[in-house]
Amino acid sequence: MTRYDYDFFVIGGGSGGVRAARVAASLGARVAIAENHRYGGTCVIRGCVPKKLLVYAARFADDFADAAGFGWRVGDTAFSWPALIAAKDREIARLSGLYRDTLQRAGVDVREGAARLAGAHAVELGGERITAEHILVATGGRPFRPVLPGIEHAITSNEAFDLPMLPRRVLIVGGGYIAIEFAGIFRGLGAEVALSYRGEEILRGFDDDVRRHLHAEMARRGIDIWLRSEVRGIARLPDGSLKVSLVGTAGGEAVFDTVMMATGRVPNTDGLGLEAAGVALGRHGGIAVDDYQQTSVPGIYAVGDVTQRIALTPAAIKEGAALASSLFGSARVKADLDYVPTAVFSQPPVGTVGLSEAAALERCGEVDVYRAAFLPMRGTLSGREELTLVKLVVDSATQRVLGAHMVGADAPEIVQGLAVAIRLGATKADFDATLGIHPTAAEEFVTLREMITVRRQA
Ligand code: FAD
Ligand code: NDP
Repeated sequence: MTRYDYDFFVIGGGSGGVRAARVAASLGARVAIAENHRYGGTCVIRGCVPKKLLVYAARFADDFADAAGFGWRVGDTAFSWPALIAAKDREIARLSGLYRDTLQRAGVDVREGAARLAGAHAVELGGERITAEHILVATGGRPFRPVLPGIEHAITSNEAFDLPMLPRRVLIVGGGYIAIEFAGIFRGLGAEVALSYRGEEILRGFDDDVRRHLHAEMARRGIDIWLRSEVRGIARLPDGSLKVSLVGTAGGEAVFDTVMMATGRVPNTDGLGLEAAGVALGRHGGIAVDDYQQTSVPGIYAVGDVTQRIALTPAAIKEGAALASSLFGSARVKADLDYVPTAVFSQPPVGTVGLSEAAALERCGEVDVYRAAFLPMRGTLSGREELTLVKLVVDSATQRVLGAHMVGADAPEIVQGLAVAIRLGATKADFDATLGIHPTAAEEFVTLREMITVRRQA
């Protein structure tokens, strides 16, 4: 009999916490988990899943428009935002229930409420002190809102999922994943959309060709993208609309129905008793952990968004599973987060794995770049002029493919497969030796022949 109530106590029922709890229970540990909102966390309740459902909804606009070129006569179409949101809510409720059930079936003690640390081996939950040999903090993050006059009138992604109706005119602030994805959602569903971004080009950190290509295609769809532009204030007008003051290239004032801040996320570290327990934060304000998710306090661990490193569900899941295996399995396991593939579910979508051209150049000094932009076959009869971009970045010296990037239909699905090859160290010759699947856009990745060599400036 151990001297603790549990072997493992998990704070946070999102992607990372749920996976850690389930793996630990399957390895025989006595596990409890606490969630203060809804099981499933950001990804299931107000992130990946509802976002993707809205993306699907937005894409029907393309299907209706393209159908005529293929002989279809599409009658009048009408879209109901309340119907979409109600359907989305039913699916989210189903999934959240599934998360809870799966935990219970795995033998995890499933608790409700906000938990906080009460020492290296204790948590407090609803006035109760519970002890555990190991404690995992997996509390995720929340949207960050910059301080500016009238910010209370702006929404974030949290509220965007539950708007009572589709806004007619939307301003999105930010140039990252959420800004780009919601610009596509609102535009696809028929809203007028402007996007204000403070930097030189959207999607900082992505390959420059991807950034420029996506920008051009979003603009072609009628999204106004204002670069080097900053919001200085928001005021509510008597008719309920919002007057926004901007500086920069899009200086002046403009009126919208909804302003959405997509200006990054901050880790949920407040009120957790971290300081009292001696848990140190890292440079970016997230909980600092080593390669094995251990914080500065032995016995306390952290995974996922609360560590403010890679904020993606598969990363949180991998870290949670690795930690549980290390603690209760037969060997210490490190979450391997090399070559993390990622997608932006924009319209058209982006899929990417490995290094951008700029990052590869920084690392290798010389890279071979293969690139093609083409009209996909569907565009021939539909008349849609949207171009697809595929790009490979190859280390000139070793011929290893360091990065694969795509903007175009199904890019996330295609790049997922390429990620396996690239992680395994595939060379350009391996790509060339692979037969294509014809006719697809994906086959372009194995038929790229035109190359330019790029050298790092001295
Ligand atoms: P979360 O999933 O945030 O879980 C943390 C949980 O802890 C929450 O449920 C919270 O309520 C709970 N909690 C907090 N404090 C306490 C407390 N004191 N006590 C008890 N419970 C507490 N990632 C992708 O890979 N693909 C995508 O397409 C994608 N789309 C996204 C779209 C949006 C709009 C957003 C916001 C995020 C998206 N992400 C996506 C990111 C992804 O959702 C996160 O990386 C992932 O959810 C992180 O998992 P986590 O376990 O670290 O945290
Ligand atoms: P991002 O970090 O991707 O983007 C934040 C954007 O806000 C950047 O363009 C940033 O500009 C800008 N910004 C930050 N602070 C300010 C400010 N004070 N004023 C004006 N602009 C500002 O964060 P998101 O919120 O879009 O998403 C959070 C994370 O969630 C993502 O990084 C990603 O890991 C994950 N996610 C993943 C998705 C997916 O997998 N498809 C989808 C959605 C989210 P700058 O570039 O200049 O710093």
